[in-house]
Amino acid sequence: MAFPKIFNDLVDNFSRFPGIGKRSAERMAFYLLKMRPTDVENLAKNIADMHKSIRPCKLCNNFTTDDVCSICSDPKRNAQEICIVEEPKDIMAIEKTSHYRGLYYCLLGSLSPLDGMNIEDLSVGKLLNRLQKGQIKEVVISTDPDNDGELTAQYLIEKISPFKIKIYRIAIGIPLGTQIEYIDSATLGQALLDRKQV
Ligand SMILES: [Zn+2]
Repeated sequence: MAFPKIFNDLVDNFSRFPGIGKRSAERMAFYLLKMRPTDVENLAKNIADMHKSIRPCKLCNNFTTDDVCSICSDPKRNAQEICIVEEPKDIMAIEKTSHYRGLYYCLLGSLSPLDGMNIEDLSVGKLLNRLQKGQIKEVVISTDPDNDGELTAQYLIEKISPFKIKIYRIAIGIPLGTQIEYIDSATLGQALLDRKQV
């Protein structure tokens, strides 16, 4: 073994991050060795503190350090509209578009029978309680457009339909800046089904 075990252990730990292969993990470990000790201590503290202080928002499951997240507690948001997503990172992605001013609800996963993720594992109880109160007039189901996301969307539609709330499914579009001939037929077919009048 060319390097000490403690170095290899760190590389193994970094390799567990999504999108980080062995080579990248090694580069990160080497970089850490070149950093100043105080910077490494700050980084380690930052990781530990973040892990300790971040928890799910009581209302929407978004990441927060308080009981209620900054979106749920923002009086300028449209409180009649809820966008339902799978993970907090989806909230971040939608927020970056600046095209949505309603609230969110995060399911913390999607129905995935093959991975053992069943209806009882999905966080829907809080959502249904909230819809029952009658303040929400519209929901936008923004689960992923894959098998699990579609299955989850169908399940949600079934559960939400009795509330007489307008239910929208996020549109499956053609990526900007691409050419029609290069788009896969499933996406192109869905884009045609979702066409809008101009
Ligand atoms: Zn929230």
